[in-house]
Amino acid sequence: MLAFVLAFFCLPANAAVQKYQAQFFDVFDTFSQVTVYSSDKEVAQTVTATVYETLLECHQLFDIYNEYEGINNLKTVNDNAGIAPVKVDERLFAMVAYGKEMYYQTNGRMNIAMGSVLKIWHRCRTEGLLSPEKAALPDMDELKQAQRATDIENIILDEENQTIFLADPNMSLDVGALAKGWAVELAADSVQDMGAEGVLLNIGGNVRALGHRGDGSPWRVGVQDPANLSGQESLTVANLSGLSLVTSGDYQRSYTVDGRSYHHIIDPETLMPAEHYRQVTVITEDSGLADALSTALFVMPLEEGLLLLDDFPGVCALWVCKDGTVIRSEGFAEMAGE
Ligand code: ADP
Ligand code: MG
Repeated sequence: MLAFVLAFFCLPANAAVQKYQAQFFDVFDTFSQVTVYSSDKEVAQTVTATVYETLLECHQLFDIYNEYEGINNLKTVNDNAGIAPVKVDERLFAMVAYGKEMYYQTNGRMNIAMGSVLKIWHRCRTEGLLSPEKAALPDMDELKQAQRATDIENIILDEENQTIFLADPNMSLDVGALAKGWAVELAADSVQDMGAEGVLLNIGGNVRALGHRGDGSPWRVGVQDPANLSGQESLTVANLSGLSLVTSGDYQRSYTVDGRSYHHIIDPETLMPAEHYRQVTVITEDSGLADALSTALFVMPLEEGLLLLDDFPGVCALWVCKDGTVIRSEGFAEMAGE
């Protein structure tokens, strides 16, 4: 049945509860892994299939590059900028509404209305990766021109009719900062009550832990060490139950120009990749919040980030600075079960 599953295999856990694992590569252009502990193989299969279906639906709804027959997705919304409101699925509406709200909550550091600017970086990165000898930085005048079309107020949301309208014809939405986390949270919600002992979703580094492992212990989730990306050694290991862990790093999507690496998290003020850290990791229950905040914190100086966390009880963060210094917010060690 599960055609998408490259591997769905069962590993002995204890006499009754078994471990099942599935992997796929076709959602959010990234590697995904679902691990389930259950005493019932059918439960494990249903959980895996439901996670996959939910992620695939979200992938299509949140896609800004491709159209899919019969659905209005973010590309439809972007294509109709300055033209007409677009009626969308409630999951897409809620995600965009959340993204808009997070703009205000992050002092504008995370701006989903920055599609026009991010598009230019995306084009330069794609070209630079394709022909490294011709790799170039975006033109600053072009970036500044694009910046004019990033006013969050021009996202007009009509709750009653579930429509999204971009009032500026040059505006476009890019939800890369929070879409994966939002989708992971929806997937987690959809399998929460299916009866598995534990489920671990890892969607391109957006990790959501439900329940526990077969022996009753929390899930163990390694935080990648930016100084040792190819190695097995983690920076730290979090012991999680009922929590999400999301990391943003300067090594995740980057390209090289004149021997210097340029990554994909863009400071809305400088219009250049944010230079504060190598990595930011956020732990909190909601995976959408963790994703949004990992990007927002990445773009903020440390003092601002620490202050921001005061507004978000139940959220903790770990920063890896440029020089390798590791900083933990208050409560990180405890929440991570380090
Ligand atoms: P990833 O998606 O690689 O895990 P992030 O969650 O940090 O990493 O999101 C980065 C993505 O968010 C970028 O690829 C881009 O699409 C988008 N983005 C980059 N900078 C910003 C920003 N300041 N505000 C909102 N979105 C951003
Ligand atoms: Mg993010």
